[in-house]
Amino acid sequence: MLILSQYFKMKNQYDYIIVGQGIAGTVLAYTFIKKGKSVLIIDDNTISKCSRVAAGNFNPIVFKRLVKSWMADDLIPFADIFYRECEQFLNQEFYWKKEIVKIFAEENEKEFWQSKTNDPNLGRYLTKLIDTDFFTNIIHNPIGATFVKDAANLFVSKFLDDFRNYFSENGMLLNEKFDYEQLKMNTDGVQYSDYSATRIIFCEGYKVMDNPYFNWIPLKPAKGEVITVRIKNLPTDKIINKGVYMLPIGDDLFIVGTTYDWQNLNDNPTEKARNEIAEKLTKLLKVPFEIVDQQAGVRPSVNDRRPVIGFHPTYKSLCMFNGMGTKGVMLSPYFAEHFYSTLEENGLLHNEVNISRFYI
Ligand SMILES: Cc1cc2nc3c(=O)[nH]c(=O)nc-3n(C[C@H](O)[C@H](O)[C@H](O)COP(=O)(O)OP(=O)(O)OC[C@H]3O[C@@H](n4cnc5c(N)ncnc54)[C@H](O)[C@@H]3O)c2cc1C
Repeated sequence: MLILSQYFKMKNQYDYIIVGQGIAGTVLAYTFIKKGKSVLIIDDNTISKCSRVAAGNFNPIVFKRLVKSWMADDLIPFADIFYRECEQFLNQEFYWKKEIVKIFAEENEKEFWQSKTNDPNLGRYLTKLIDTDFFTNIIHNPIGATFVKDAANLFVSKFLDDFRNYFSENGMLLNEKFDYEQLKMNTDGVQYSDYSATRIIFCEGYKVMDNPYFNWIPLKPAKGEVITVRIKNLPTDKIINKGVYMLPIGDDLFIVGTTYDWQNLNDNPTEKARNEIAEKLTKLLKVPFEIVDQQAGVRPSVNDRRPVIGFHPTYKSLCMFNGMGTKGVMLSPYFAEHFYSTLEENGLLHNEVNISRFYI
């Protein structure tokens, strides 16, 4: 006997069409599928490389101001459970808890850190230990290093590929560029080509700028670049941070980043960014390194640094799940569940993420 969602799929009728299979679209699609919703994903993954370029780290601390990252106490436990569940669901491995090693640049930075370790709001993420021996044969560490707890890393491109295979094998993926001219709204929802759905949710990252229904969102996209370098004899279970982060990915390789450029919005690696990252890395390391790769992507950032989620002001069957900025890995799972509850259980959308803050 056919279950209802399979029947609707045969008729090309879906509960949701999701446009974009970056971190946002993938997390949203899986959240809806596990609730029993039928989903069609439309993605051409050559249009934006942002998620595939992401190192995939999340950090409960904002180092610059030494404050807790927004909603970290809620987002992190949620993300932990979510990504582990994804691993089980796909029978794959792509998520690891990894300590961040913070190398102090100045004495007063260390003192400020130490003063915060007893802060009831922040202290649970900070260790008191100051390690002056941390790989001093390889790293310049004259003032000491300390450790951030509860950080993690998602191997994003594997996560996306594994889900892409799953979506494709289960007939849920259209591998094509979405053509906005083919979208029609009707009383039951939307029609796109031969497919119909109750709602369509756009997750195109910064390419939402080309979406005629949502191009009024005041995005402030930021291009970012990373290099991959080879360095021997560094730990493989820790992310090292001082001006740049170094994420171990195996075989003595590390992803090192990152840069910010608000002008040149494209996925082309540049010499300027390579030199900028390499210069910072040279200051951090006592040993030479070999650059083996470089990648660029454009982050879908917004001035207020909050996701942009919700309904089109006129066409309520058109929705958006975007604006993940620099933190797609940490934000997406919690807010996908949150959006599901708004769409299906009459939950209220969190004011700070609600797209209605930009309605004119
Ligand atoms: C250098 C760099 C490092 C980063 N490091 C981290 C990190 O360590 N941790 C972290 O959490 N975040 C990091 N980020 C940010 C993270 O990458 C973003 O938050 C996240 O990728 C946004 O995901 P998204 O799904 O919204 O957008 P995208 O990744 O841009 O996905 C959008 C998808 O939609 C597709 N698409 C767009 N338009 C269309 C269309 N018309 N038709 C069909 N398909 C379409 C695109 O091709 C793409 O597949 C980093 C970003 C950069 C650039």
